[in-house]
Amino acid sequence: MKDCVDLLLNWYRIHHRELPWRKDTDPYHVWISEIMLQQTRIEAVIGYYDKFMKRLPTIQDLSLVEEGELLKLWEGLGYYSRARNLKKAAIQIMDLYHGVFPQTFEEISSLPGIGEYTAGAISSICFQLKEVAIDGNVMRVYCRVENADFDVYDLKVKKKIGEEIRKILPKESGEFNQAIMELGETICIPNGVPKCELCPIKEKCRAYQKGTWSEIPRKRVKKEKEVEEYTLFLLKCGNFFALHKREVGLLKNMWEFPNERGFLTYDEVREKISSITSIQLSITNTHIFTHKKWYMNSYLIEVSQMDPSYVWVSLAEIESTYALPSAFLPFFLELKNKYPL
Ligand code: SF4
Repeated sequence: MKDCVDLLLNWYRIHHRELPWRKDTDPYHVWISEIMLQQTRIEAVIGYYDKFMKRLPTIQDLSLVEEGELLKLWEGLGYYSRARNLKKAAIQIMDLYHGVFPQTFEEISSLPGIGEYTAGAISSICFQLKEVAIDGNVMRVYCRVENADFDVYDLKVKKKIGEEIRKILPKESGEFNQAIMELGETICIPNGVPKCELCPIKEKCRAYQKGTWSEIPRKRVKKEKEVEEYTLFLLKCGNFFALHKREVGLLKNMWEFPNERGFLTYDEVREKISSITSIQLSITNTHIFTHKKWYMNSYLIEVSQMDPSYVWVSLAEIESTYALPSAFLPFFLELKNKYPL
């Protein structure tokens, strides 16, 4: 891997993708992009990032934003605790560091929602500190170059790779960290055949020479996802629809359409919902989370009275103000289709 450092730096300087958060090394920009990029593809993040920066261009703006508006900006990105932690960290930066992003690895990693990887990325890219940023891309490239059949899901392996990369980190640590990640995202890709012919380090890569890239890194035996079934009640009273704040489990504190566990029959729905004037089956949706799979049925139900345990809002208000997690968005779109704004 040591022999790859200059090759990777030279390749990155010429071939890196132009991305909105790469226009400068402002830690606020790098921080927000790194958090958005967790679990989300680059192409999907670009639009969210631009919108976020337009509305919240500074750490102070982020520290002052209402949670509802913040979640609305985050709507569709998922993992909403990331957005809440951003605000908590911004408040901490305002209180402890007078609004100036901290500049040591320890201070950066003490901020809410910032783990070792993100702290390493920010401190190397923005402050040229000699810190590593080890993610799945880096581990894959490292293992292939070294032809190492490691279990990259083992934390001890991650630590070991971090130590090895730290030994070879050049003074341009930020550029190097980005170069190896960029190679993993665009050339030495995770799924499918890596583009070895385009790879700047193929002469140094043992997996390429031995033809073993497809076995490296070792694949994880996938655990079956836990399945949950839900029935959603799309409750309509006049021009208003019922929303509810989720109280437990996944997506806690997020807005949702009222629902019950299990697939309910018409009769079971009639027992739960009062003052029904009409009821019909509506769409279904499957939503896949990291460890769970939700199967969702829904009923469109017109009622003559608004149950006060719900918030009743128009579709336009849902669109402008209430952040619905992706799992519920298809149901909102179905309502919008049926009752155009
Ligand atoms: S030569 Fe192929 S397997 Fe080796 S690092 Fe480059 S893209 Fe990956």
